[in-house]
Amino acid sequence: MSHKSSREEVWQPGDKVVARYNFTGSSHEDLPFQKADLLTIVTPTRDPNWYKARNSEQRQGLIPANYVEKRASSEHGERRTAVKLNAMPWFHGKIAREKAEQLLSPREDGLFLVRESTNFPGDYTLCVCFQGKVEHYRVIFKDNRVTIDEEEFFENLTKLVEHYHKDADGLCTQLRRSVPKQGKQDFSVDSKAFETAGWVIKKEDLKLGEPIGKGEFGDVRLGTLRNHESVAVKTLKDSSRPVQQFLAEASVMTSLRHPNLVQLIGVVFDEGVIYQVMEYMVKGSLLEYLRSRGRLHVSKLDQIKFACDTCAGMAYLESKRLVHRDLAARNVLISESETAKISDFGLAREEQFNQEGGKFPIKWTAPEALKDSKFFSNKSDMWSFGVLLWEIYSFGRVPYPRIPLTEVVRYVASGYRMEAPEWCPPEVYQIMKEAWSANPDDRPTFRAVETRLKQIKATLNS
Ligand code: AMP
Repeated sequence: MSHKSSREEVWQPGDKVVARYNFTGSSHEDLPFQKADLLTIVTPTRDPNWYKARNSEQRQGLIPANYVEKRASSEHGERRTAVKLNAMPWFHGKIAREKAEQLLSPREDGLFLVRESTNFPGDYTLCVCFQGKVEHYRVIFKDNRVTIDEEEFFENLTKLVEHYHKDADGLCTQLRRSVPKQGKQDFSVDSKAFETAGWVIKKEDLKLGEPIGKGEFGDVRLGTLRNHESVAVKTLKDSSRPVQQFLAEASVMTSLRHPNLVQLIGVVFDEGVIYQVMEYMVKGSLLEYLRSRGRLHVSKLDQIKFACDTCAGMAYLESKRLVHRDLAARNVLISESETAKISDFGLAREEQFNQEGGKFPIKWTAPEALKDSKFFSNKSDMWSFGVLLWEIYSFGRVPYPRIPLTEVVRYVASGYRMEAPEWCPPEVYQIMKEAWSANPDDRPTFRAVETRLKQIKATLNS
């Protein structure tokens, strides 16, 4: 068989390919494989017909391009679409009963809205007009589902509203028309949306292994997908944050694809338990990487590469107007090929998406965002990126050494900024200082910083 390839596309590092035939190899540089093996592209070579690739045992070698094909979309979802969130124009959040009654006018039968319950925190209230009066139905939130009559349960408020739109089913009237909320609206998401968009993985295809970390929602475990691919699996603990929030995090990830963001592979729904299946980052967090290897094993080139990688991922988020809110070395993970990728989109939301009452990592958060979470922005992420650069160049030290946590805010407000870590290139420290401008508008964009970091890297390479 000729090795000439008729492929038009060029595969990138990290792309997965599946073997179409057995390949025994003819030199020690070749990587032999069997039909149906899954391989990961490490780099293209000068010859477009040959790639350097890695097998599941982490052995690397050359493979002929025409013996393999890019993994089918059903497995990796090249053709999957972003999961759509459902708008909830009728959801008015925390408004009082009296305010709801004011909004529901004129009192036409079936005019409705939904609000958060004031008497039963965590529950909701469906307010609906009938015969000139407003009826207030308690919507109970139980086992991550909602119900009015404790007979019929719905995955979310959207499903509940849809149901009572079709049929009164015990209410005084069926829902007809809603009072839309002015300004920013809320969204719901459901498992069906993940299925429709092609992100659902069958439970049988996933084997769970040992725990590898602890996350906000629950354990992170190693897993095996379809018997050949190592993956990281985040499990939603029963009693933790509600399903809606976990799914919202996953739905943000379905719209993102970048070599420097940890990729969502899919979601498993298994009788009430939900698993987020993620690309497995073998070398763990950047923070641990820096601390465990230290000055002796992390080179200047490694440092600038991690900085460039992270900045490229952030520039992509910036282009999508998404704000991370928790950028730090502990939330950057390192792949087998030592690429840094940003993880933990738990707090990533569309810009201006306000999350009240959150806990902020003080040493990484911009002063304006510490004051009021509505000021989280791509520019506050840039402040955190400055701190992340400092972590990289100090080999994982805790920022603001010798300053007690309770004092940090006061120090920063009075103009104090961290000094350059030892051996940090002045051009990199200059970026940190700009990132820590008191006025967010004076901070550079990730796009601009990416260009500058690439230039610094190029001078090191040459
Ligand atoms: P997180 O919930 O994202 O904060 O994850 C908690 C910990 O689990 C991290 O600090 C990592 O050690 C580990 N972890 C999370 N995601 C992955 C992944 N995709 N690959 C490898 N380890 C991970």
